[in-house]
Amino acid sequence: MQLRDCPQCGHTFGAVNAYCSCTRCNHRFTALPTQIFLAGKMGKTTDEQLLTLIAEYHEVPFLPSLDYCVSHQTAIMIGVKFARMNITIPLMVHGCERFVVVDPQAPELFEKIATTIHRLPEFAVASEHCIRKRINEHFGVMNPASTLDIQPLSPPK
Ligand SMILES: [Zn+2]
Repeated sequence: MQLRDCPQCGHTFGAVNAYCSCTRCNHRFTALPTQIFLAGKMGKTTDEQLLTLIAEYHEVPFLPSLDYCVSHQTAIMIGVKFARMNITIPLMVHGCERFVVVDPQAPELFEKIATTIHRLPEFAVASEHCIRKRINEHFGVMNPASTLDIQPLSPPK
């Protein structure tokens, strides 16, 4: 049994899988590893608040938008398959290369990246939607049907 807080009503309850329905309000969600780790401390959260709490816990920045340059050499090292499979992309954030992820605590993520780039990665947190969109912008789109909800990138700042 792994405890987690329902983002919709704040109720703390246990379930065997990451994917679950809240036992109080029936809200369905997939609990992130850090969300399970911080059960009882998160309470009711919007998507952005949840990601902010995850980022704060791991002491990395939360990025509401991903208008940063891709770290090209590292992106070549990891490749598009790895980026899509692990939902991550390396960006230059204020001079620091950071792998943008939904949850730095995702199983084996740190090890997989470290093994691929032969050094220890720094992280930043963003929504899955933003990361997938940035992967598509950089590497190109695999399936044209999946671009329907993609907005054009705003100009870099
Ligand atoms: Zn609930």
